[in-house]
Amino acid sequence: MKYKRIVITGGSGQVGRYLKKYLPNAVFLSSKDFDLTSEKDVAEMYNKLNPDCVIHLAAKVGGILDNISKPAEYFTDNVLMNTLLVDYAQKNKTERFIGILSSCIFPDKHDIYPMQESDMHNGPPTPTNYAYGYAKRCQAVQIDAYNKQYGTKYQYLIPCNLYGEFDKYGDNSHFVAALIKKIHFAKKNGDNKIVLFGTGTPLRQFMYANDLAFVINYCIENDIYDNMNVVTDENLSIKQMAEIAIKACDAENISIQFDPAYPDGQFRKDVSTDILKKVIPQFKATELYDGIKITYKYLTDNNLI
Ligand code: NAP
Repeated sequence: MKYKRIVITGGSGQVGRYLKKYLPNAVFLSSKDFDLTSEKDVAEMYNKLNPDCVIHLAAKVGGILDNISKPAEYFTDNVLMNTLLVDYAQKNKTERFIGILSSCIFPDKHDIYPMQESDMHNGPPTPTNYAYGYAKRCQAVQIDAYNKQYGTKYQYLIPCNLYGEFDKYGDNSHFVAALIKKIHFAKKNGDNKIVLFGTGTPLRQFMYANDLAFVINYCIENDIYDNMNVVTDENLSIKQMAEIAIKACDAENISIQFDPAYPDGQFRKDVSTDILKKVIPQFKATELYDGIKITYKYLTDNNLI
């Protein structure tokens, strides 16, 4: 490995737990080690660990309801962490820095889909994730600015929604985690249907979180510095995703009912895989069926739902 002192911020989170498999010798940090919204802690982290490579996963991440009720926290915490982490990396002469953004930074509405990385600034992010989306967009602006002014080769990757064994399965979980839970409880309670909000027609990209860990590791092992979306080509309707999840959870007797009284949210928000395919042609994202199957087995084997 080219880097001797790799530090992973947010190492206790979902993506961090998959990265341990690829980078067992890195230092994996949680908020208990350093509060990365505090300049004092960020300075201390760089001082103590002197990383030559930082993979910055730490973020305030949450579901739609939390984003709607606490936009100030989503904005300020993420802007502080990102700004400090990049600035101290440059001051510390840290050679490599990878920031993880999110495809929710892209415009709420666009003329042409899938959106390219260069479309990032062509309109405001969706209202439900507006503060979080802008905070994450700022990191792209910051990294581009530092590369231009200081000649660093810092990079950002832009994943779509993620899911997997280490996702959050409590209240306020993301769509795939909530879907798996609904199917599991319907199975357990002998119900023959699940009810999903909205019409089932919106399209979504969901990636197995291990795939993002694979791409991060591949970039550092193979000197890839491109800023790019890290997403799957599967852009499925909510209905298709629910049908796949029902099969993957061995619950084929369960039917899906949609409740159109609830809003659908954005109709589509898919982003392009062109750069990803060009720079890592052999990368093949895990299909939703396989990812949910692995996830559901892990959750039930370990009594986690
Ligand atoms: P996660 O499971 O929510 O983990 C967040 C991590 O950030 C945890 O390790 C947490 O530490 C740490 N953290 C939060 N606040 C902190 C603070 N003030 N100081 C230090 N550390 C702090 O997130 P994830 O799903 O792995 O996401 C990883 C990255 O991918 C994030 O940048 C996220 O924005 C991005 N992303 C995620 C998704 C998704 O669907 N999950 C989609 C697109 C992009 P504790 O464990 O101590 O709380």
